[in-house]
Amino acid sequence: MIGIVAVSHSLQLAEAAVRLALQMVPTEAPRVLVAAGAGTEKDGSPIIGTDATRVAAAIDALADTDGVLVLMDLGSAVLSAELALELTASAVEVRLSAAPFVEGLLAAVVRASGGATLTEVAAEAESALAPKRGQIGQSAMPAPSSAAIGADRIVERATLVNPLGLHVRPAALVATAVRSADVAIRVTRTGALANAASPTALLSLGARCGDEIEISAAPAARAELDRVVALVIDGFGERDTEPAAEAPTRADPRRPVGVSAGRAIGPVVHLSSTVGEPDRGRALVTHARAAEVARLRDAAAQVAGDLEARAAAARGEARGILTATALMARDPALLDPAAASIVDDGTSAPRAVWDAAAEVAETLSALGGRIAERAADVRDVRNRVVAALTGQMLGGVPDRAEPFVLVARDLAPADTATLDPATVTALVTEEGGPTSHTAIIARSLGIPAVVAATGALDIPEGTIVLVDGSTGEVRPNPDAATVAAVAAEAAAARPVRLDAPGATRDGHPVALLANIGDARGAEAAAEAGAEGVGLFRSEFLFLDRADAPGRAEQVEAYRAVFAAFPGRKVVVRTLDAGADKPLPFLTADAEENPALGVRGLRTARRRPEVLNEQLAAIAEAAAGETADVQVMAPMVATLDEARDVVARCRAVGLASAGIMIETPAAALRADDLLGAVDFVSIGTNDLTQYTMAADRMIGELADLNDPWQPAVLQLVADVCRAGERTGTPVGVCGEAAADPLLAVVFVGLGVGSLSMTPRAMSAVAEVLGSLTRAECVRLAEVALAASTASEARAAAKSALEAASVG
Ligand code: PEP
Ligand code: MG
Repeated sequence: MIGIVAVSHSLQLAEAAVRLALQMVPTEAPRVLVAAGAGTEKDGSPIIGTDATRVAAAIDALADTDGVLVLMDLGSAVLSAELALELTASAVEVRLSAAPFVEGLLAAVVRASGGATLTEVAAEAESALAPKRGQIGQSAMPAPSSAAIGADRIVERATLVNPLGLHVRPAALVATAVRSADVAIRVTRTGALANAASPTALLSLGARCGDEIEISAAPAARAELDRVVALVIDGFGERDTEPAAEAPTRADPRRPVGVSAGRAIGPVVHLSSTVGEPDRGRALVTHARAAEVARLRDAAAQVAGDLEARAAAARGEARGILTATALMARDPALLDPAAASIVDDGTSAPRAVWDAAAEVAETLSALGGRIAERAADVRDVRNRVVAALTGQMLGGVPDRAEPFVLVARDLAPADTATLDPATVTALVTEEGGPTSHTAIIARSLGIPAVVAATGALDIPEGTIVLVDGSTGEVRPNPDAATVAAVAAEAAAARPVRLDAPGATRDGHPVALLANIGDARGAEAAAEAGAEGVGLFRSEFLFLDRADAPGRAEQVEAYRAVFAAFPGRKVVVRTLDAGADKPLPFLTADAEENPALGVRGLRTARRRPEVLNEQLAAIAEAAAGETADVQVMAPMVATLDEARDVVARCRAVGLASAGIMIETPAAALRADDLLGAVDFVSIGTNDLTQYTMAADRMIGELADLNDPWQPAVLQLVADVCRAGERTGTPVGVCGEAAADPLLAVVFVGLGVGSLSMTPRAMSAVAEVLGSLTRAECVRLAEVALAASTASEARAAAKSALEAASVG
């Protein structure tokens, strides 16, 4: 592979450009060395300039590569690079490139990672301006690439489904996937053709979401062609910024997306506008510039301090998000370029930070997917710093006594984290995606939310709107019947406090436990009268984390949960990363079938230290609390896995170790598995999806994803029998436990505890308390005897009615 040297006047510029380029090639990147700046001042600040000896040293350090391409920014960088050729000691072939610095670097890195020669990489870099020219209309459609289509080539067609089409990141993925193989891509709409190994040529295609592309390859490159087709079908991993079940269409590339389920109705209130764009104004006189830099740094420190204080007062996701935003306010990548603009050009501090933030936000946006959603966080920090510098009041969430629907362009994480669900009944934002912080926090607060609702701010304040956080619908002026239906739903969903432990009419105890995700949820569950926690989805605390949480942080988070249930049971589920809830620090990259992949307990195969650290943190937190702490592992399929998790728990002194029954394999071998653990909890959500082979995220398959399916009921019955035989407690913690009718069927099958959202507890308690244990057994028998899901439901319902009458 060739090596690359980036020569620039500014170390920061070069490093940022290299970082950007390397993001495009997660694996097997070429070596890229930076030769930038001309040393440092006495106070440690970098001297802008270039130095031929540094360039020569970088070239010599790449002497063992297959050639070195040197990219330069401007002026003396070129002179230094030329002079460096005289100074190098090594014999490696070196080529100076006239390519534009940033675009050229990006194109060169991607092409080089595919093993292209020095000549090929140099050519790629030098044509790197073509896409930008095409985009802003400075040239006609890009010239077709030289990729040929011969009669013997294999050809596949696929439609681009990711929102931004073949932009820079997908182009890099395609080029990396094909390496130097002979693969070509043609856009059916325009006929434009490109060599798929060339990211620049791919960008030049201007292929958009909804475009059909034709991928062709020589027969020997079948594997590369298949890889490209798979990438296209997968939307380059960027489809999750759009509704999951539907590919966006060309006519409607951006649709509102429901990101936090539930329906609510209320009057629209706009989030007060943020700060205005600062004027460019006249350049500051030289002697005033140092003071302006100090003013900028003070304002940023003040903003960071404020966010840190809010983080300290917050819990769960909100805390992590506020801490991350505070870090951004101290980030040199934002502040240093702003300071440089003040010093070099006399820009005012507000304007300088505005411009610097725009650059950072643009870089993040260009990377697409989840990273792009962080651009909103940068703009939030920018607004806060500008407000602090100019003495403006930041709008923030309006303070109203009456409930309302909050509509905003985007919500700053710091604002979302402090929303009061009692007054904000729903959220609608014009920007954002399902993984934006707004969405994450809205879900944790239980506030229905819709993002990507373009034009939502055009709905006048005061208009009554219906917000459906499941379908993404935002409907102004709903009719009276809809208003009444939503009000009834809200009343039914309001948790009613349980005042006695769960039991059948004849006193057979069935623990009614809560499913929670953080301390706030635990406190609410305790308030609603839950007897304990049957499922603490610990991964909910760390959904947005790039790095594994440390021991101290985990101990603190777990302690807060345990403290809500003194003397009572709390079952912590170990991190269940994967599929619908990836943890960036743990989830396997790009799996074809993530629900069948390295998720749940399986992540410990790759990262056993993460599981061990979590267990140690749970044990440490439990030691200081009176809660009866139990631990269970998700997605267990074999006896070996069950034994392994029990052994790990025992090793850190955790007395009660269980597993979830979520796979048909675990249910079918229940006798073995239950004999090896202290308890089990049936995760009916996953058990149903795996038994019925129907992805639980796909609404179209809801009839299959039904826990009343006879196959699922049979497996639950088998597990209960194994529980009796081995003396192992069996609980249910999937959504099915919240269905009162099914809950009593489970009790009839032998389930001893039911764990659910606290909102469902009172309805389940009521039906449970209306039946004797024998009647529950009767309901279970008729349900098990049915041949279809609807027959099972109907039979149990008739048996319940008969029992109520009798
Ligand atoms: C389940 O699968 O039923 C379960 C409770 O786990 P989760 O929904 O978190 O996958
Ligand atoms: Mg599960």
